[in-house]
Amino acid sequence: MNFITSRKEALEVLEKYLEKDILTYAAQRNFDFGPQNRKNISSLSPYITHRLISEYEVAKKVLSKYPYQKVEKFIQEIFWRVYWKGWLELRPKVWADFVEDLKNIENSNEYEKAINGKTNIDCFNDWIKELKENNYLHNHTRMWFASIWIFTLKLPWQKGAEFFLRELYDGDAASNILSWRWVAGIQTKGKNYIAQNWNINKFTNNKYKDLKLNENPQPIIDQREYKISPINIGDNEKKSDKLIFFENELNFRVFNIDNYKKIYCIMLSNEERKVELGNKVLEYKKNLIRNQIQNLDLEIEFIEGNKFVELSVNEKDFDVVYPSVGENMSFLKRIIKRNNLTISYLTRDEDKYCWQFSNKGYFNFKSNIPKILSQFKLN
Ligand SMILES: Cc1cc2nc3c(=O)[nH]c(=O)nc-3n(C[C@H](O)[C@H](O)[C@H](O)COP(=O)(O)OP(=O)(O)OC[C@H]3O[C@@H](n4cnc5c(N)ncnc54)[C@H](O)[C@@H]3O)c2cc1C
Repeated sequence: MNFITSRKEALEVLEKYLEKDILTYAAQRNFDFGPQNRKNISSLSPYITHRLISEYEVAKKVLSKYPYQKVEKFIQEIFWRVYWKGWLELRPKVWADFVEDLKNIENSNEYEKAINGKTNIDCFNDWIKELKENNYLHNHTRMWFASIWIFTLKLPWQKGAEFFLRELYDGDAASNILSWRWVAGIQTKGKNYIAQNWNINKFTNNKYKDLKLNENPQPIIDQREYKISPINIGDNEKKSDKLIFFENELNFRVFNIDNYKKIYCIMLSNEERKVELGNKVLEYKKNLIRNQIQNLDLEIEFIEGNKFVELSVNEKDFDVVYPSVGENMSFLKRIIKRNNLTISYLTRDEDKYCWQFSNKGYFNFKSNIPKILSQFKLN
């Protein structure tokens, strides 16, 4: 698989997918035909994760071409991502606890065997190789992978989520951690996702047979309860002459950037992260940023986190494009506290509006999709 790094090319990938492949999405999306044949899904996630193109923009383009009924499943999947993001925004302690949990888990031999593709489960070893080569896995395969990791290999889900974040080009705190919790049976308490031999066999076109999997596991139990807390995202008013972006909001033009004296795009190095990323993922992110700055011909300075720390010793106020709960937000909060900064957030209206519907389950969120589409004239 070849993931591109410019917005122009990402839009071309989307246009091509919309020509006709999208029409088989609902019927075909669960099949993993391998990295050479991905026409049954969009493979847009690395671009959406970095907001080279946004969920809302994708939905609008899809619905300008097809009536809702023909593309309903695809639109719903796009909004899964929005739902997960909102869910984590409302319960940021889930991210904090995940980071804390990781500190207390040691790397076992079994873990080393798993991440090096040396288990006695063929499909799993293949997926490890595929993930490292392509920095991407099909959705169904991510579900099987996580289920085998937790219930057959009996490894901690947190280490699996960490491994995914390290290797995936689309790695995203909300979609990743909450999906792993969902497979484990923690997100929807008591309902775990069980990878089954027949299902893997069917949806890989008979590639894997006679797998020895634990097909009768109990869900993982986690007693921690997470109450909803209000999202502190400010009033979107320009309050500073300096603007900050992080690498997960790369379509700079969506925001009103004209009146800023200085604009920075920050990418955290591994030293500044709680969950380290693989070199290929770091390089991919750097290329996305460089391309965006170059192609849009904008005066934006690309800096690492430590440069921002230096800057903020003297400069105390910044407008910041809301980085959302996860690595960037944790970093920012540490520096706000350490250097006593005044920050004003700019948040997309669509995000603000949608996240309120993440207070319950996805079923409830889904029922609000028509309202969201008409509120922002996406259909
Ligand atoms: C254990 C596990 C970990 C995951 N980790 C991530 C992650 O770190 N980042 C990430 O973007 N997705 C993650 N997903 C969700 C999903 O697997 C990917 O978004 C999807 O595989 C991307 O491929 P695609 O672009 O072809 O998706 P398509 O099926 O073509 O869907 C279009 C878009 O909708 C969104 N989407 C689709 N399905 C989901 C879903 N189940 N959850 C959230 N968004 C979805 C994505 O933005 C995707 O690009 C994870 C799923 C599982 C089970």
